[in-house]
Amino acid sequence: MSAPLPRPQRFTAPADWQAIDFLSDLHLDERHPRTFEAWRHHLLNTPADAVILAGDIFEVWIGDDAATQGFAKHCADVLRQAAALRPLAFMSGNRDFLVGEAFLSSAGVTRLEDPAVMEAFGQRLLLTHGDALCTSDLPYQRFRAMVRDPAWQADFLARPLQERAAIARQLRTASEANKAGQAMSDWTDVNLEAASRWLQAEGLRVLVHGHTHRPGRQEWGDGFTREVLSDWDFDALPPRGEVLRWTEQGLRRLLPREASPP
Ligand code: MN
Repeated sequence: MSAPLPRPQRFTAPADWQAIDFLSDLHLDERHPRTFEAWRHHLLNTPADAVILAGDIFEVWIGDDAATQGFAKHCADVLRQAAALRPLAFMSGNRDFLVGEAFLSSAGVTRLEDPAVMEAFGQRLLLTHGDALCTSDLPYQRFRAMVRDPAWQADFLARPLQERAAIARQLRTASEANKAGQAMSDWTDVNLEAASRWLQAEGLRVLVHGHTHRPGRQEWGDGFTREVLSDWDFDALPPRGEVLRWTEQGLRRLLPREASPP
């Protein structure tokens, strides 16, 4: 299945910035308090000039109107405090694609479209959450096309909260069942041919993505490199999570505590 490059957003960092942090796949929810705390600490203490939230920050999002109380409200409060300190940008993932303008603007967070060509420190890279490039997973790509359709979203968001929560649970159960029936390599990874085409279309060599929960750096093809962002779980043993920091020296991986010391 071919995946033409959607028209990328372009982002150019101000000349006086020295560091940009990328985070993704925290899957924040109230059952993971240490992960929430690590995220909060990082957002409030990082020395970076900006933080890019590259998708699946939230485990589930059923509408901005559900974020006025409870756990989502705590997350909104953290974002608002952090956004008062430095710019924050949010790119949707496949779990939190319903985060809307109302929520982002009230939190002071800028939206970043997927994908985005980012330019900083004399370097350029392509940032994507990653799910759009998992082109070998045809059932997922059909599902993605459905839920990214504005008409589907409007219909979903018009339903009562309880019903939305129930639908979200069903969708997740169906997705887990689908994954369980397939080999890991079949569904979880980015298609590198599709990634090469996206990079080539923009004359780029470096891709940054999350989504696959397989952090690392890989070189392939004609000088292409990808940096795969880490998922976070600080409630697991051993705890897991990294920040990818972009500076004049390039991209490097840091533990959140190294990235923003106490
Ligand atoms: Mn994802």
